[in-house]
This record gives sequence, structure tokens and C-alpha cells, in this order.
Amino acid sequence: MWSADEIAGLCYLHYRTRLPKQGKPDPNREWTSLAAVVKVESAAQREACGSPGNLQVTKEVVAMGTGTKCIGQNKMRKTGDILNDSHAEIVAKRSFQRYLLHQLWLAASHQQCIFSPGTETGKWKLKPNIIFIFFSSHTPCGDASIFPVSEPENQLSKPVTGGHAAGQSAECRSNHNHLCPEDKRKLEKMPSNHVIKRMKTDDGDCFSIIPEDLAVHHESVKHEDNTDQKICECSAEMQTANKETGLVRPKVVDIHRTGAKCVPGELDDARIPGLGYHCVGLLRVKPGRGDRTCSMSCSDKLARWNVLGCQGALLMHFLQYPVYLSAIIVGKCPYSQEAMRRAVIERCQHISSLPDGFLTQEVKLLQSDLQFEHSRQAIQEVQTNSRTKLVPCSAAISWSAVPEQPLDVTSDGFRQGTTKKGIGSHQSRSKICKVELFHKFQKLVTSISQEDLPDTLRVKTLKTYWDYKEAALNYQEAWRVLRSQALLGWVKNAKEYLQFT
Ligand SMILES: [Zn+2]
Repeated sequence: MWSADEIAGLCYLHYRTRLPKQGKPDPNREWTSLAAVVKVESAAQREACGSPGNLQVTKEVVAMGTGTKCIGQNKMRKTGDILNDSHAEIVAKRSFQRYLLHQLWLAASHQQCIFSPGTETGKWKLKPNIIFIFFSSHTPCGDASIFPVSEPENQLSKPVTGGHAAGQSAECRSNHNHLCPEDKRKLEKMPSNHVIKRMKTDDGDCFSIIPEDLAVHHESVKHEDNTDQKICECSAEMQTANKETGLVRPKVVDIHRTGAKCVPGELDDARIPGLGYHCVGLLRVKPGRGDRTCSMSCSDKLARWNVLGCQGALLMHFLQYPVYLSAIIVGKCPYSQEAMRRAVIERCQHISSLPDGFLTQEVKLLQSDLQFEHSRQAIQEVQTNSRTKLVPCSAAISWSAVPEQPLDVTSDGFRQGTTKKGIGSHQSRSKICKVELFHKFQKLVTSISQEDLPDTLRVKTLKTYWDYKEAALNYQEAWRVLRSQALLGWVKNAKEYLQFT
């Protein structure tokens, strides 16, 4: 019906032909990340013919996002008019919510759309012949990005496909034998005068690995400001073991690292060079520039969507079931199937007592062999002999399959070109910021007559964004269960940031 390469190719084509130059990186010195949601629709009536091989399938990009930045907590606003998190995955997801809102408006006004009436008043369900596939040009930041560097990556930019033992060797809590025999053999074969070091970027979100001469690599173990945090247990053991055996010098084998830091009060990384640097399976917040952020890593958010759906609390009022992703496809880049599975699915697999309709999904996880033209790796390959410092593009592009102003380019959380004086004005707002999506949602509510509204929206006292979110009872119950059983320590936005109207 579809393949990973086909979906990736479709997203790249959409990026190339449907998005303007504005907001795209300057390929001589900048890179960005891309994410998208693709609708796959099969012609339902064909099934009756008994020839599934001829099933007509249409694939369409319905939402897209680019971006690499996240604002620090000091820049957050109580008016809901700034984008806190502009990583491509999050921009794509918010653009997808904008698309879903439009589809609900079509449903409520009896037009052709992706929904059919549900069994409860005012509720809709996705047509059974429609699925959504999420695409990301790179491995999501946070937990999914933590896995051992494997040999082919010594030559910069070669992809890791399928990853043998990846993830297992970095498992802090259960696996004390840090190298499998195969990795040990590889370790012995590697030239000893080279170690692999991460390449620092402005965001501190690290993914690129460059071989570096051992002589200049003497990184000491730092624990910065996290004195009150428990260090991941077995990493600490490994640290002791390293000291005892005199193995404090950097090892030849390393793991891919993420700039996302562990949430306060939970286990923390040991940050010793080599395999023990990170602890896996933990919740993390995105790195900012200087200022710390309140945004959870993309791995954590994907794990949450895999249980609660992508629609969020507001749209859940109108939906009988959450809108889940059927597959997540990652473009050509360093990738580990095991780390992805652990981060997105396994952390939430054990939870019980979710309300009806909510369930941890067995989302398909795939990698494509096609590389994004403006990814960090692609730009590095082209600029390999240039001395120009490559930087992440500061703009974020949002695109939704909606008739009015589908495109939205932002920088630092506001429309690109917004001046200091312009902040707060209507023109400065992104179409996918909280307050804009909330107003679109309220418009939908008021367009529907009282008797056709779902039960949860007939309460007259709902006023603020917070009120409307809290009133989505089954969604909030699912979130409470998920948080208490699997995502403890999730950094929530304080209520004061959600009380706008
Ligand atoms: Zn991210």
C-alpha cells in the first residue's frame, strides 16, 4: 500500500515544490529539520470486489513543519500567542491539529471530509479507510537519539540501518555487560588513535559524530548544576569500574548523544565519556540557548501522542476516539530501531486502566533510505571542504492543508519579521499558536447549535483555554493515568500560562 521511501519522497517533493523559499535554510551555511503528516486513504468500496491487490490508494501531505529551535522559559507568555517549541515534529503536529480543526468544521457543516458521525451526539470518528503516517527527516531528540555509535558512522554521514545491538549496549539499568562480542570485535579493529566525539551545535542538541584525534580529546566529567539529582545507577558503577581499571581515558566506542537534559527530580545521566554518558528511558527537556526550556523532548511527546493521540484535549471534545499515527518514518540519518521502540512505545506499554478508546499503540516504526536535502548531514556532505560554520536555521515553517493561509513562517515563536514593538499584535501571531487554534476551536463550537454539541461542551461556565481543556474529561483522565504510570516527572506548563481567553 505504501513504503517508507515512498512517503519520504512525497514529503520531500512537497517541501521542494509547495513551500516557498522564505523560511528555508541557506544551504551554504544552514540546515533544518523536516516533519510531516501524510494521509493515506484507500478506496473503501473496492474491498467488496475481492481484489485487494487493485486497491486504489491516495497519499497526501496534510501537514508539514520545519524548525530546530525552542524558546527558553523566560520568553514564555501567558497570552498563548507565542510558539514555545518549534522543533519540526512539533510544528508539524500543531499544523496537523489545524488541519483536523478544519476537517471538523467541514463535518459540522455537512461537507465531504475525513470524519463520519460517531455514536454519541456531537462526536465524530475517522473514516475507517483513512490512516495517518508521521514523517521526520531525523531521529527525534531525547531518548530515541541515545544509542551506540556503530562502525560505519566513523565515516561521517553513513546511515545505520536496523542497528544490531544498538540500544542494548547503552541500557544503564539492566545491562551491565556494556559491549556485546560483536561490538568488542569492532572496537579492536578500530584505529586506536581516533576517538569519536560529538560535534557541538548552537542548540547543544548533538547528533553529528566526527572522528577526532585522541590527543586533543580530554573531556573531564562534569556534573554542572544537578547536585540534587540521582545519577543513573549503573553508569555510576561503570564510572567506578573505569577508575579502578584506569580506563578513564575516552573509549573508542561512544553513543549518540542528545542535548535534551533529564527532567528535575528524576534519575540523571552520569555524563562519563563513552557508552555510559547517558541513561536511557528517561524523560528529558529540550535544550535552549542559555535559558532552560519547559518543552519536553520530541521522543517524549511522540510517546505521549502514541497513547493520547495527536489531536490534543480541545479536539477530543468532538471525537469519539483519539487520532493516532499508524506509522512513524524517519529519513536517512543515524537511527536505531531499538532506541525508537524503547522511546516511543515501550515506555508506555505497561499502563493499565486507560479510559475507553485510549490504548498504547503498536505504531509501525520504519526508516527510509532517502535523505532530506537540507538536513545537517546533507549540508555537511556538500560543505565538507568549506570552513564556514554550519548553523541550524532559525526559522520554522508551518503548512496545513487548509484553504486560508496554509503557510506560516515564524522565528523565535512569532511571525517572521515581527519587530519588538509588534510582539503581541494580531499580525505577529502564528496560525498554530495556542490562542489562534483556541479561537478557531471556539468558532467551531459557536457554529454548532446547542442540541448538536457534545455533552462536555454544553457546560456554560467554560471560558478560558484551560477551562476548555480541563472539560475534555476522558482525555484528561487518560493523561492522568499515563502520567502517573509511565511519564512521571513530565514538565507541565503552569496554569497561569493557559488561562487566556
Ligand atoms: Zn526535537
